[in-house]
Amino acid sequence: METSIQIAADTPEARRYNRVRRWLGVGEFLLGLVLLVILLTTGWNGWLRDLAYRGAFQIYALAVFLYVLLLLFAAKVLSFGLDFYGFRLEHRYRLSNQKLRSWIGDEIKGFFLSVLLAGLLAELVYFIIRQFPEHWWVLAWVGFLAVAVLIAQLAPVVLFPIFYKFEPLANEDLKLRLIRLGERAGARVRGVYKWNLSEKSRKANAALTGLGATRRIILADTLLANYTNDEVEAILAHELGHHVHKHIAKGIAVEAGVTLVGFWAANWALHLAMDRWHLFETLSDFSNLPLLVVIFVVLSFVLMPAVNAFSRHNERQADRYAFENIASIAPFISSMNKLADQNLAERAPSRWVEWWFHSHPAIARRIAAAELWAKANGENQVQGFSPA
Ligand SMILES: [Zn+2]
Repeated sequence: METSIQIAADTPEARRYNRVRRWLGVGEFLLGLVLLVILLTTGWNGWLRDLAYRGAFQIYALAVFLYVLLLLFAAKVLSFGLDFYGFRLEHRYRLSNQKLRSWIGDEIKGFFLSVLLAGLLAELVYFIIRQFPEHWWVLAWVGFLAVAVLIAQLAPVVLFPIFYKFEPLANEDLKLRLIRLGERAGARVRGVYKWNLSEKSRKANAALTGLGATRRIILADTLLANYTNDEVEAILAHELGHHVHKHIAKGIAVEAGVTLVGFWAANWALHLAMDRWHLFETLSDFSNLPLLVVIFVVLSFVLMPAVNAFSRHNERQADRYAFENIASIAPFISSMNKLADQNLAERAPSRWVEWWFHSHPAIARRIAAAELWAKANGENQVQGFSPA
């Protein structure tokens, strides 16, 4: 008898929702790019720099920070319409229950957080440019890496709690299952936290976050409320797979490679703009910041398929780890189907959409891989799994 599980077809609703979301993302990207190009080609970036200098009483470091603030403010004003459309979209598809007031609060918090982080990064880069104009791009890259590691470490304890509440998981059965999974893997995750997502969203999610002492698995309460313990265990096993395969460290390593190319290209572009086009007189003229950002934005867009392919590879590895460490793949498959329904995800997006935009393999593929694995390894029979 064929026991293959049927994969439901994507509803027109899911297709429409994901198409609009994709275009929204592309729109926001293009808007940001257009702003940067306009600033550079009209010379308004210089006008903005003079404004920042006046506002900062001619103090360089303060002017850099003010310049970043002005740039981000202009970007926010431009993209606010699309952001609000995104908020409305989630409601239209019944995926959000966040109140407008709470959303505006998050927008404000997010804006100031981005000003703080981007401001500090710009301070670091322009300080290095001023001190070491010859080799600034290598040193800035080192500084950037240090900040990236610090942010990965602080994110679960400092950044995420700005937007969501977290509390240690109270479900004793699940805690025991995780400890057992961890023991089998010889891996230790310091904590599992309940992520109070339900006050803002109806979607479900789970993630591995943090570095070192802050490493933890977070599970949305929207997931804990609607999934069986077997299903949550399958998801925990997947997250543990990310931990065992060191995916966060590998992700930072890939990011390091991309940013090294980015800083090299930025140095090349800044010199071209300065020496050939005479757009700036010195490297430390921070009105060249839009050009620096353009380089990184274009690079990340060009490399998006490669970075996503790397991410999908990691996801397949984590899935495989889950298959090998849970008693049966049935709860894995049912959790995938539940996630797709709850999040209105496309189970089978078109090839090129998956290739370009998706950090995770399509759900239809993940389910097919699970079935294939179960067939190859015998139904309900797990490698090295001795029934207690
Ligand atoms: Zn994953």
